[in-house]
Formats: sequence, structure tokens, C-alpha cells
Amino acid sequence: MDSTSSKRVPMPYDRSNIFAKIIRGEIPCVKIYEDEKTLAFMDVMPQADGHVLVVPKEDAENIFDLSPEGLAAMMATTQKVAKAVRNALACPGLMLVQLNGAAAGQSVNHIHFHIIPRTGGIDLKFHAREMVGRDVLEPIAAKIRAAL
Ligand code: AMP
Repeated sequence: MDSTSSKRVPMPYDRSNIFAKIIRGEIPCVKIYEDEKTLAFMDVMPQADGHVLVVPKEDAENIFDLSPEGLAAMMATTQKVAKAVRNALACPGLMLVQLNGAAAGQSVNHIHFHIIPRTGGIDLKFHAREMVGRDVLEPIAAKIRAAL
């Protein structure tokens, strides 16, 4: 392959990443929604109240590696959960973020969408900085689940 080609050889997927362990049920999460192809759970270092992550169950590190079917499933779940977040928390705005590669800020090497509620005048907290407990996340998660 010449250096100008847009084709790229995918890196082997690392099954020891933390989201792979959550998908396999090896470590806990505050779950919002699950189906055959996707899982949604609370971010433990939320940038705003109601920050949810959506992952496909397919082994894929980033947007370049995920199959079209996996992408479609992830987007359908993202929309479903985003509607529930909006309805549960009455947030006037909602941000979707998806990072590819360390240079873009990706810190967990399993593709995911961030669903982040936004309210005018309230700044986002830092990315992946301050961990909060299950006691904080669970009441918010319960509201979102009830709105699904
Ligand atoms: P990114 O930097 O886009 O890869 O985002 C990874 C996100 O995963 C960050 O927002 C972290 O706060 C979050 N995170 C890391 N570990 C966990 C975990 N065990 N459960 C839930 N969220 C996590």
C-alpha cells in the first residue's frame, strides 16, 4: 500500500479494555438499556448530570472498524436513549460526542457515543476527570430508565 492510500490496516481489537469487560459483565455499570447488539450505561466521570455512554457489543475500537450493522444499531440506541435523557431531565440541549484515536481524546478503545445533556450557561465539566459514586448516578439513571 502506498503512503497516499486512504486504506488502513485495522489494529487488532484489545479485548481487555474496560468497556469490553462491562459488556461481558466482568465489571459493573449503572445500566440504562441493553439489547442484543448494544448497551447504554452511565459515565462514571460525568461531564454533566445525565451523561450516558452507548456502545455496540461488536468488537470495534473506532468508527473505522465498526460494521455498518453495528453502527446502525449503535445509532438507533443512541437516539432512543437521547430521547429518554431529554424527557427525563428536561434538558434544553443535548450533545452527542464520539472520539476516534488518542489524538482526538479517545481514552477507552471500544467505540462509544457520549450523550451529554446541555443547559445554556452551564459549562461542561472536564472530560474523564472526576469520578462520582453509584449513589449519585443511580437516581439519575432511574429517571432515564423510566422515560425509555
Ligand atoms: P473517551 O475519552 O471518549 O474514550 O471516553 C471514555 C469515557 O468513559 C469517559 O467519559 C470516562 O469518564 C468513561 N469511563 C471510564 N471508565 C468507565 C467505567 N468503568 N464506567 C463508565 N464510564 C467510564
